Amino acid sequence: MADNSLGVSHFLTKARVECRAISLNDATSTSTTMKLPDRSLVATSITATSFEAFMDEMTVASTTGADILELRLDFIQDFDTERDLKRIMSHSRLPYIVTYRPKWEWGNYNGEEATRLATLKYAAMLGAPFIDVEFKAADTFFASAGEVPVTCKVILSAHDFNLTPSASELKDQAYKMYQAGADIVKIAAMATDITDAASMLSLLQDPAAPTISLSMGEKGQITRLLSNKFGGFLTFAALSPEKASAPGQPTIQQLNTLFKFKHQSQATKLFGIIGNPVSHSRSPLIHNTAFQDIGFDGVYVPLLVDDLSAFLDAFKDPQYGFSGFSVTIPHKEAALKLASSVDPLAAQIGAVNTLIRQSDGTFKGYNTDCSAAIGAIEKQMIRAAYARGEPASAEGSVSPLWGKTFLVLGAGGAGRALAFGAASRGARVLITNRSRDRAEALAAGLGPSATVVDWEAVQQGEVRADVCANSTSLGMSPRIEETPIPRSAVGNFGLVFDSVYTPVWTRLLLDARDAGCEVVDGLQMFVGQAAQQFRLFTGHEPPLELMQETLMAAISAASVDHEEKK
Ligand code: NAP
Repeated sequence: MADNSLGVSHFLTKARVECRAISLNDATSTSTTMKLPDRSLVATSITATSFEAFMDEMTVASTTGADILELRLDFIQDFDTERDLKRIMSHSRLPYIVTYRPKWEWGNYNGEEATRLATLKYAAMLGAPFIDVEFKAADTFFASAGEVPVTCKVILSAHDFNLTPSASELKDQAYKMYQAGADIVKIAAMATDITDAASMLSLLQDPAAPTISLSMGEKGQITRLLSNKFGGFLTFAALSPEKASAPGQPTIQQLNTLFKFKHQSQATKLFGIIGNPVSHSRSPLIHNTAFQDIGFDGVYVPLLVDDLSAFLDAFKDPQYGFSGFSVTIPHKEAALKLASSVDPLAAQIGAVNTLIRQSDGTFKGYNTDCSAAIGAIEKQMIRAAYARGEPASAEGSVSPLWGKTFLVLGAGGAGRALAFGAASRGARVLITNRSRDRAEALAAGLGPSATVVDWEAVQQGEVRADVCANSTSLGMSPRIEETPIPRSAVGNFGLVFDSVYTPVWTRLLLDARDAGCEVVDGLQMFVGQAAQQFRLFTGHEPPLELMQETLMAAISAASVDHEEKK
């Protein structure tokens, strides 16, 4: 029997536990050991630096939705094994991993290696369900005095904070770790490109042992968010954003509520937003909320992509199962080129913001920005005409935009969508842009229905139109005082639309409202384009009101947060 009253120093030299050492050769004989879970666990690291704060953090962590704690002993200043270890272990209300990470593996422990390894064995002997031993120290650890009780599972871990080895190198390393005595293999490596996440996830296919396979950094975040879908042993999540113990770690709350981590399964359909930057995007929030509302088994993740072609290639294997993507800046034109077939309107616009996987694995491209923006403008024109008691559309036309003058400010992706959309509804399109050559290129693509007007002429109030649609980023948070049209000129338009939606009430819209114009905000375009994507992703009708309310609440919360930080 193990004598738990022995101190660590005694244990180092004399203690022998009368049970077999864990080896993977007998990993199947688990009758006396803890049953491994059938889904990926949510682990959180306890990293407070004083003993009291460490104990407090453990208490808090046990009520936040984590399944398992990682006790990072190396964070506690003046940690004393004999004095502190038993108290810490007995304080835990959840299963836990004892980790005592040395400096040479990006931890904080800088003392004697023998003492460190003895502490881990002592923890195992005292009843720790899991201990984490660095792969580089595995031989010394297993050869040192004392055996590991079968009740304790050994996680052999390897970290690389610089880069991710290739998929085949990762496989080799995992197998060596298994052979070295890992009950559970843990490899964490920095993703310098999102394709590294594909290499990391490939480790979870037919692993020799239960595996924790995590990419560090924002580019590898999907390995953390989707660990349950892909069968990882666990993922790490932070108690709060400030408490993240590795780059790219989500919070427990995000993982459990936004990404429905515990409900993921192999059957869960995957979607994501491809962009750069992408961390600010509200698309994961509104799509995941909408999926959950209709009970659709899907999860939608942010994808920080540098090279769209390399990303699609790395994730083409059906095992990753991405069913569709939203595409945002700067990849909308590349998405058009890489789609195997493209909806005719998207082809005309020259930009794809939605990719849907076809049964042969290729992607079809769509543009939902265009109809969302034009639809929102038409709706307001119809409402306004109704309020005036006038017919909304000219006789015989299908759109209230038919025959109207439509000024587009900007000639980027959103500008192209607005210009082609307005032209397709029979409007006379005026285009203005800071860089005139871009406006001319867009007008040339539209043909005779489009004319370029000077940016300065618009600023000076020399241009009038029924509709003025801003597709520049002027006025977007944090530069909310900027506007593409001076206050003195905004009354030249019957209706003003702004594609910017952070804030919802931009300077331009406030001025337009004061000048008596009809106004349409960018939130309606955002919700509209997301709603059409939702139909393409799921084949179901989107919960429009919920999507709108969710987005509005998130924007309000962010602006309060922004004000408080000022
Ligand atoms: P983009 O392709 O990069 O185009 C940006 C446009 O803004 C260009 O016309 C650019 O003019 C102009 N611009 C930028 N800074 C300017 C400045 N200081 N003064 C004058 N013009 C300036 O971007 P995009 O995809 O079209 O997006 C544009 C805006 O629309 C962004 O604010 C985006 O958030 C918004 N948007 C909203 C939705 C929605 O759902 N509500 C959807 C898509 C886009 P140059 O050509 O001279 O650089």
